[in-house]
Amino acid sequence: MRSNGKVYLDWAATAPLCPEAREAMDPFLTPGLSNMDFGANANSLHSSGRRAFSALEEARLMISRSLGASRPDEIIFTSGATEADNAAILGIVSALRKRATLQGKRDFIPHVITTSIEHDAVLAPMRYLAAQGCELSYLEPNSQGFIDPDSFGSALRENTVFASVQMANNEVGSIQSIRQLAALAHARGVVFHTDAVQALGRTPVILKELGVDAASFSAHKIGGPKGQGALYLKNGTPFDPFIIGGGQESGKRSGTQNVCGAVGFAAACETAITLQEQESRRLGVMRDALYEATAELKRVHASVDVEAGSLDFLPNIVNLYVDGMESETLILRLDMQGFEVSGGSACSSHSLEPSHVLKALGLSSDRALGSLRISMGRYTDQEDIDRFLLALGQSIGQEEE
Ligand code: PLP
Repeated sequence: MRSNGKVYLDWAATAPLCPEAREAMDPFLTPGLSNMDFGANANSLHSSGRRAFSALEEARLMISRSLGASRPDEIIFTSGATEADNAAILGIVSALRKRATLQGKRDFIPHVITTSIEHDAVLAPMRYLAAQGCELSYLEPNSQGFIDPDSFGSALRENTVFASVQMANNEVGSIQSIRQLAALAHARGVVFHTDAVQALGRTPVILKELGVDAASFSAHKIGGPKGQGALYLKNGTPFDPFIIGGGQESGKRSGTQNVCGAVGFAAACETAITLQEQESRRLGVMRDALYEATAELKRVHASVDVEAGSLDFLPNIVNLYVDGMESETLILRLDMQGFEVSGGSACSSHSLEPSHVLKALGLSSDRALGSLRISMGRYTDQEDIDRFLLALGQSIGQEEE
């Protein structure tokens, strides 16, 4: 619970800044000239610039180690996961297209694969590729939000060059078999990207073991600053830079780096991974309790069937829908009682469209419009959940008065 009595249950939208990130960033936020001990341009040659450069490279090293990358230069700093997803999808496919042209395949039409339950940061660039003449296939999940590796294997064609499948879903929390999917892709010479934003800090993310070619991460989902992310690009992966200019980030992402953001991200990343096992266990108990208790509430249904103790779903996300009620109404009623939750994903919460994820799982538009995503994090405790359950019961009760 917060000091103002509010309970924040929207951690999948964003997490509060963690103390470790704040402490790491503090020296970079001093105003005035004394800030130059930390806040110089990391590309300047003078000693302050070199100090900023070392801080940036130290952050890159920390992140690459925490994520189990092979080399620090496989981590490219970006403005967030939206940029990392866009860069991976557009940058890799552009390079693969060029390669095909160089090989004399002039009329080559690349085929790319994604799923219908990706975040818009993946779906929009995929649609852009389709508008640019690529063939695009969407894999459909089962009713629980899982992509069948066999259907992925069958979708691979002679001209498939690239696939992007999220590691964990941001609305229902289903975790995909990324290692298996990446291996299937590689067996056919297909480059594989995963959006690992929601997985980080909630389930193990060890890049070397996953075997992916590219992965996207966002600092603000794990207690780092907003507007900071990273693209993991395995050494040797074909890539055309998406943002061009001064050639920073080894020419892969131009623009003066946000050293303060990178340092905060590194501290948050290291902390989230250190705490992951114990936090996932603790959050998983509350997730199970929430699903169990809400099953007793009239008109409330779980959007997916999450077995107690399941490791196939993220431990911090609960997705429900309420028969005959729109999530907007429920969110505002809960808000008035001091509980902050989302309907669908935060990105689509300003739209009245039903969630594309829930619809892909087979929920009707009416049910999808009544969905509620409760997401927890480091400072959520059982008392918050108990109080939330009372408030939810009351909010639904109001409808019947
Ligand atoms: N991918 C997923 C799965 C997300 O949940 C989000 C955030 O909502 C993003 C990408 C976009 O991340 P960012 O806010 O860093 O651009």
